[in-house]
Amino acid sequence: MAKITNPFDIYKLLPQTNCGECALPNCLAFAAAVIQGRKNLTDCPYIKTEDKEQLASHIAIREDFSRASRENLEMLKSRIGDIDFSTKAAPLGAHIVSGKLAVKSLGKDFFIDTRGNVTSECHTHAWMTVPLLSYIVHSNGADITGRWVPFRELKDGSPMNPLFVQRGEKPLKKLIDGNSELLGDLISMFSGERADNTLFSSDIALSLYPLPKLPILICYWKPEGDMDSDLNIFFDASAEKHLHIETLFSLGVGLVMMFEKISREHS
Ligand code: SF4
Repeated sequence: MAKITNPFDIYKLLPQTNCGECALPNCLAFAAAVIQGRKNLTDCPYIKTEDKEQLASHIAIREDFSRASRENLEMLKSRIGDIDFSTKAAPLGAHIVSGKLAVKSLGKDFFIDTRGNVTSECHTHAWMTVPLLSYIVHSNGADITGRWVPFRELKDGSPMNPLFVQRGEKPLKKLIDGNSELLGDLISMFSGERADNTLFSSDIALSLYPLPKLPILICYWKPEGDMDSDLNIFFDASAEKHLHIETLFSLGVGLVMMFEKISREHS
């Protein structure tokens, strides 16, 4: 068995009943806690003993998530120094201002210097720093295809999709269920656009540009009769030519967390 480094590989082996006996709200949270070394497999009474023994020796515990994040950030910053902004700007849909790369995110300009430092015309959102730097380092400049795909249909999206639903789509649906004006507010705050809602027969469709060549589409279906509301976040089919799947995941979930914060502050 290969080393297990992804919480979802643990989640797949759990009963997925979300019983809470491990003192965490659900099995996904437990899987994440195990990989971070905060929980032990023995804390779930429902994993078979033989599975526990086999799994335990293969889990690569990430002892210090914040250190890993810092190291990732430092690695990205160091790679920015090797990039020729003048040739990379156009393929990224960016431009150069006073020697810095100006990349538009959600309608605002973010400026990146040759050391990878990020500043913004408004306040800098810390969670955007890694997607921005990753975009500059990893994007191959592919054009937007205009074909929308859900996270699960991205090439490497399927294994992480349950976590994306849990941490991205469900919280955003809940937010909009409780505040139907929110999508309209997001359009005005983040230079979003009403999109063609006939495409997926949704009641509301909104597109946003977290990065110049990486749009997302949020579709919301209102509750109707016995049917609950629903929400999907779609990515352009070219998304993985700009960011790795883990960064796309963080970008989507980070956006939702920012919307939640905005909603709290405005309520
Ligand atoms: S005790 Fe096991 S089955 Fe129950 S929520 Fe925790 S991980 Fe899931």
